[in-house]
Amino acid sequence: ETISFPSFIEQIIELFQQCHDRAIHYHLPTEEIKICADSNRLKQVILNLLDNAIKYSEPEQPVTMTLERKKQLGVLSVRDRGIGIPLAQQTRIFERFYRVDDARSCSTGGTGLGLSIVKTLVEGMGGNIKVSSRPREGTIFTLTFATM
Ligand code: ATP
Ligand code: MG
Repeated sequence: ETISFPSFIEQIIELFQQCHDRAIHYHLPTEEIKICADSNRLKQVILNLLDNAIKYSEPEQPVTMTLERKKQLGVLSVRDRGIGIPLAQQTRIFERFYRVDDARSCSTGGTGLGLSIVKTLVEGMGGNIKVSSRPREGTIFTLTFATM
């Protein structure tokens, strides 16, 4: 199905804020960006990334979503200023049940399934996901989809 990416992101943020007491900052383009994706799956993907962003950062640290068009691509990033992920673990976080450090993660809880599902869903829609992170500085997940 065809999705209007900017207005879709706006709806997700609204939905997220109905049940979470954390401000999500966002930058959306005024131009239309249409992508072909399954709206339910895309919703799960973005909610999972937002869930991680608030879970692995402190309440006062900002979480920001940015959508831009880069040539023929729609690029969405979800950024936090939280604990970050060591380089050596960055490739493993997409594995099922993998959690970086059970000690640091136990206070937050979770199964370690979120990102493996996210990656499967994104790639199933023809998109791409990558991570960029530094311990104690924060994390950015970047999603890329072909535009229509
Ligand atoms: P679940 O999502 O299944 O509830 P989870 O959040 O632990 O559990 P994933 O979402 O798959 O699992 O993430 C895997 C691991 O990657 C996390 O346990 C955490 O260690 C690390 N991680 C994921 N997102 C972030 C982030 N934004 N900042 C820091 N670490 C992260
Ligand atoms: Mg998670």
